[in-house]
Amino acid sequence: MVNARLPLIAGNWKMNLDHMQAIATVQKLAWTLDEAKHDAGASEVAIFPPFTDLRSVQTLVDADKYPIAYGGQDLSVHDAGAYTGEISGAFLARLGCRYALIGHSERRQYHGETDETCQKKVEAALRHSLIPVLCVGETAADLEEFGASAVPIGQLKAALDGVSPDADIVVAYEPVWAIGSGQAATEEQAEQVCAALRATLAEMLGEDFAGRTRILYGGSVKSSNIASFMRQPNIDGALVGGASLDVAEFASIVRFYKHVI
Ligand code: PEP
Repeated sequence: MVNARLPLIAGNWKMNLDHMQAIATVQKLAWTLDEAKHDAGASEVAIFPPFTDLRSVQTLVDADKYPIAYGGQDLSVHDAGAYTGEISGAFLARLGCRYALIGHSERRQYHGETDETCQKKVEAALRHSLIPVLCVGETAADLEEFGASAVPIGQLKAALDGVSPDADIVVAYEPVWAIGSGQAATEEQAEQVCAALRATLAEMLGEDFAGRTRILYGGSVKSSNIASFMRQPNIDGALVGGASLDVAEFASIVRFYKHVI
């Protein structure tokens, strides 16, 4: 069967690049992709800058019609009110965000985000017509104790509880031991878990939902290993951390289709 899912290459900038640096980086990314004649029908590009950059990114993307989507690195479970420091999905939607990252392992690890919080954040994103990019993945200890799929599947089931089969979501499988370590999963390991996640989506929300939902791999993705992941039938793109800060490297990952045979 032909894979009709548009690959998504998403760059998570984490807490890097202030709004002035964001302007320069987005311009450089757009020029690099344009010069390389990037085919937007072959892969979609999205970036996740810090919240304080989003207005600048929106202004630039809108003015110059850059084919670059963007989103928030997190969002509040609440829509408005006395929640100091929180960012509403409504505000992200007003800034033209298409996506919201949810449940990144750094949020789970350093900010105590539970599966229950992630489920509420998925609901909040969908309420504001944002596409949740739900991150799931096992730690090295989980891998040893439970194997590769059990923890990500459990996180997926919990976070998608109550989601409608009509919803548009993206799942990012990010083994925690591979994030920022320089040690990516092998393509076989990643494919095995992504296939198990897709089977879980089919069980929970039906074949149609599972067939159209994009599942990304994340964890030490670079231009030198992206092609091997993109050859796998259940991997529809990548969530890229460190390498997304290097424009030439990120643009080369976006253009993986030039080096996948
Ligand atoms: C991430 O933080 O989502 C990530 C995948 O990071 P890196 O690419 O640096 O491993």
